[in-house]
Amino acid sequence: MLAAVNLNLAPSCWPVLPHVQNFALACERSHLALCFGLCHFSITKLSPKTNMSFTRSFVYSRHKLLNIYSCNLSTSAIKYQNVQQSTAAVKRICIVGAGPAGFYAAQYLLKQLSDCTVDIVEKLPVPFGLVRFGVAPDHPEVKNVINTFTKTAEHPRLRFFGNVTLGEDVSLQELRDRYHAVLLTYGADQDRELQLDNERQAPHVISARKFVAWYNGLPGAEQLQPDLSGRDVTIVGQGNVAVDVARMLLSPIDTLKLTDTTEYALEALARSKVERVHLVGRRGPLQAAFTIKELREMLKLPNVETCWRAADFTGIAEQVDKLQRPRRRLTELMLKSLGEQRKPRAAANGKQFLPIFLRAPKAIAANEMEFSITELQENEAAVATEASERLPADLILRSIGYKSSCADAGINFDPKRGHVCNRQGRVLKPGESDAVEPGLYVAGWLCTGPTGVILTTMNGAFAVAKTICDDIANKAVDTASAKPGFEPGSRRIVNWEGWRRIDQHESEAGKAKGKPREKIVSTEQMLRIAGV
Ligand SMILES: Cc1cc2nc3c(=O)[nH]c(=O)nc-3n(C[C@H](O)[C@H](O)[C@H](O)COP(=O)(O)OP(=O)(O)OC[C@H]3O[C@@H](n4cnc5c(N)ncnc54)[C@H](O)[C@@H]3O)c2cc1C
Repeated sequence: MLAAVNLNLAPSCWPVLPHVQNFALACERSHLALCFGLCHFSITKLSPKTNMSFTRSFVYSRHKLLNIYSCNLSTSAIKYQNVQQSTAAVKRICIVGAGPAGFYAAQYLLKQLSDCTVDIVEKLPVPFGLVRFGVAPDHPEVKNVINTFTKTAEHPRLRFFGNVTLGEDVSLQELRDRYHAVLLTYGADQDRELQLDNERQAPHVISARKFVAWYNGLPGAEQLQPDLSGRDVTIVGQGNVAVDVARMLLSPIDTLKLTDTTEYALEALARSKVERVHLVGRRGPLQAAFTIKELREMLKLPNVETCWRAADFTGIAEQVDKLQRPRRRLTELMLKSLGEQRKPRAAANGKQFLPIFLRAPKAIAANEMEFSITELQENEAAVATEASERLPADLILRSIGYKSSCADAGINFDPKRGHVCNRQGRVLKPGESDAVEPGLYVAGWLCTGPTGVILTTMNGAFAVAKTICDDIANKAVDTASAKPGFEPGSRRIVNWEGWRRIDQHESEAGKAKGKPREKIVSTEQMLRIAGV
């Protein structure tokens, strides 16, 4: 009979490490599992030097104890977290992508499956996905989820492998061979296009995704150098990303200096000549994609006047009473703001935020953009009419959605919908059939498409993690044979300790400037600071 003993080792417990040794010796003396396996203490939180000496003490060459894969001691006594009577191997699960979906799924799996280990493989040397590289710098409260993710990452049965790209450094097949289950959560790193002529060539058209990555310090994005020397910026789209971008362009620089906006972006924004930001949507005020919270923030921006077009609101007031509560409150706020609008509209010495409805992108020209005037159908779809309007646009920011890509040829990816083909998170086999790939799952934006906020992502990730647990319990995933897990080889891997070093470096650099952190934007520098 095999006995697997899980022990977690917290740093505060190091003083009692000798007890671990005694415990191991006691096991040896009592012949507990003597002939059945390898005693494998994974003491992850020790300094490399101490780790080595303990590893030497604990690895029993004669394969005496079995698979004690993590240690957990309280200062008072060794705590046997879980003693299982099982013939199954440790269940090895790999998660690709260290964003919210990856961390929430890991949290669920570690809690529900006491005999699993979770490895997170992440393309960048740093974790947290769009929480670090998407969420606006002036919304630090949203980034508090990082504390939860950090707790999960420091779980003794989780390993973080930063600087490993699926499809480049490791293939899906390799991961599937090395793990019982693989969960893909690598998000969405492309953007949807307007499908207009010269959209790709025109130097003054950039995607909001790239602009967001630029001010948030995604490695490589510092090359963008958006031209902020013109007066008018036109943002195509009215969702939360579009509003974030508008706010970043119109916020006082002294406010932004207190955030983790990258230094080069602060310098460019301080020099910015942008005075008017147009936020253009295809549909009407009743279909506005921004939330009341996002609108309130815009209305409160100092020295920024919000300018509505009265014509966009024809017949809107009459419909307010019929609306559901959140939509009603948002519409009432827009109408109130419209009612308070100053005349003439131009703000003295100030900037302007100009939400514009019922306009669909038609053509791009130098310093301006042509929009078709749209009409709403009964199903609320916007249809372009013959009429059009030109808006000034020294810079055009396309903000009509992110898009996932196919990271590995082995993934059954739907390029039209921009997500991995799946049924409730179980990845489908290629072809017409409804059969699933055993042990392969998808969650987060890669599963649902790029919609929803962190909370939505969390709920989806928990649901898929539960599916994994169910499939393991029902033996739909074969966990009978042992799997080796990820083998980094000579690759420069950033583990959690390495990220801790980067984190500390960034926090200290930020402190000196009164910012929460100064992000490192060079991958090479990240690797150096991580010590790899
Ligand atoms: C601009 C912007 C602002 C937002 N603001 C908010 C907000 O204020 N509040 C809120 O609740 N939500 C916000 N969201 C939504 C939130 O960010 C998403 O719901 C969430 O990040 C989706 O999580 P995910 O794990 O699916 O993807 P991601 O967060 O994108 O994580 C995917 C991870 O996979 C990694 N990866 C990519 N390719 C590979 C590969 N080939 N191999 C290995 N790893 C890979 C990426 O580096 C990344 O770390 C915002 C989104 C955006 C775009």
